Amino acid sequence: MAFTGTPTLRLTRSQHERIIASCYDGLPNEACGLLGGPALGALEEPTGVVTQVFPTSNVDASSLTYTVDGKEMLRAMRSMDEVGEVLVGCWHSHTHTEAYPSPTDVRTAAANPNWIYVIVSLKPEHGQPVLRAYRMRDGVIAEVAVDVVG
Ligand SMILES: [Zn+2]
Repeated sequence: MAFTGTPTLRLTRSQHERIIASCYDGLPNEACGLLGGPALGALEEPTGVVTQVFPTSNVDASSLTYTVDGKEMLRAMRSMDEVGEVLVGCWHSHTHTEAYPSPTDVRTAAANPNWIYVIVSLKPEHGQPVLRAYRMRDGVIAEVAVDVVG
């Protein structure tokens, strides 16, 4: 089946700021967090709208990898469940590399193929954070457009 990167990820300016701030807070390690929002159908296809962002602990405490804390993920899932929404994605930072999925990122994305994966590069050479989003299915990386609104 053909697969595109759609839908567009829609972040409010304050969500965007919180994500970037959490990435700085996580230094020197990779930071991570979860995105909650509406999803459609039995396959829980994200609409691209984000209603909540949940900064989480990186239990790896590593500058090279991340694992979202399991209890924090459960809490985030429950709080989305209460409003009839789901987790639609996550973010993590790359402290010294581009905002592009690593082979490990592609592998771990297999666990949640519907998710939108945001990667924030804090590579010093960029001068400012670079936020990009992707979907990864069956090892195929597709970039997702990001709209920062409001
Ligand atoms: Zn990564």
